[in-house]
Amino acid sequence: MQTKLIRIDSEHIDIVKMREAATLIREGELVAFPTETVYGLGADALRPEASAKIYEAKGRPSDNPLIVHICRFEELERIAKIVPEQARKLAEAFWPGPLTMVVWKNEKVPYTTTGGMDTVAVRMPNHPVALSLIAESGCLIAAPSANTSGKPSPTEAGHVADDMDGRIPMILDGGAVGIGIESTIVDLTEEKPMILRPGYITKQMLEEVLGEEVIIDPGILATDTTDPSQAGQKPKAPGMRYKHYAPKADLVLVEGDTDKVVVEINNLVEDAQIDGKRVGVIATDETMNRYKADVVFSIGARDDEDAIAQHLYKILREFDEQDVDAIYSESFKTPRIGQAIMNRLLKAAGYQVLYV
Ligand code: AMP
Ligand code: MG
Repeated sequence: MQTKLIRIDSEHIDIVKMREAATLIREGELVAFPTETVYGLGADALRPEASAKIYEAKGRPSDNPLIVHICRFEELERIAKIVPEQARKLAEAFWPGPLTMVVWKNEKVPYTTTGGMDTVAVRMPNHPVALSLIAESGCLIAAPSANTSGKPSPTEAGHVADDMDGRIPMILDGGAVGIGIESTIVDLTEEKPMILRPGYITKQMLEEVLGEEVIIDPGILATDTTDPSQAGQKPKAPGMRYKHYAPKADLVLVEGDTDKVVVEINNLVEDAQIDGKRVGVIATDETMNRYKADVVFSIGARDDEDAIAQHLYKILREFDEQDVDAIYSESFKTPRIGQAIMNRLLKAAGYQVLYV
């Protein structure tokens, strides 16, 4: 299959190009498109044979559900069994935006889209190209991230092309995404709202709007800490249970006071180089000149959380091309979205952390 890569200017959307993409969606085909979080791989969410193609193109396990993207709140009412009051409040505050809500589904939503679950994950993305594609197609668009299963989510159209070229008919290139990590997922089907995946919208932000406690899935805390009392809990979102992306090289995080971290990483780099290894470092703008590794990438300024989230997946992809044997990374427990960043980075590192 020939993959068409079509550049769309988000500020001046070319409606003729969008109609071509929308037609593909209506015909049950796949189109990759930008959202504000990461690039998505979309298909008509209400047609089982269309959403089934997504699993095939990604190599995704069929029990890992897709997120349904909508462009009007009423579309949630069309596919939810019940729309909880909390969903109205959260949509009012955060939609369009990087928040996915899980609600009970009705019979319109096929099980291929929900990976066999009776609940459905729904989001209204805050990106003009995504919203235009949904509106022009007249469909609800099921879309997980547009990467091959097991790779980091794509934050640029080029990443999508690396993974999907020849497998899908079209990629819409809307430039680099703004946020860079996947949406926060909040489950509204339990007694208390529960975060199944941390993201840009934090627990505090949700609690402020809902006026009630929001809990974090004990299953993700279990994997994000080494606390043995949490062991054995499974994350509720199927996608959080799968073995996640790990770079080809061994990745170790080093956490602690910055000066000590720099010294420790340089020692580790030297040891690895003596062993004949090619070594990479994930640094910040402030520290990048202090490392003596073979490849040093800065993820951004340490106090610029948004930049750190934006660059994380790109850097991980770039290291795979750099042919390094080991990577040492600083740790990024930043105040607001640090939990979301570290959730992704810890998985990439297979939870290897050194404290200094
Ligand atoms: P992706 O967009 O690639 O990040 O994948 C969608 C994420 O949403 C995966 O982690 C899924 O497991 C999760 N998800 C989708 N639908 C549901 C649902 N009904 N209940 C829980 N998690 C879901
Ligand atoms: Mg994904």
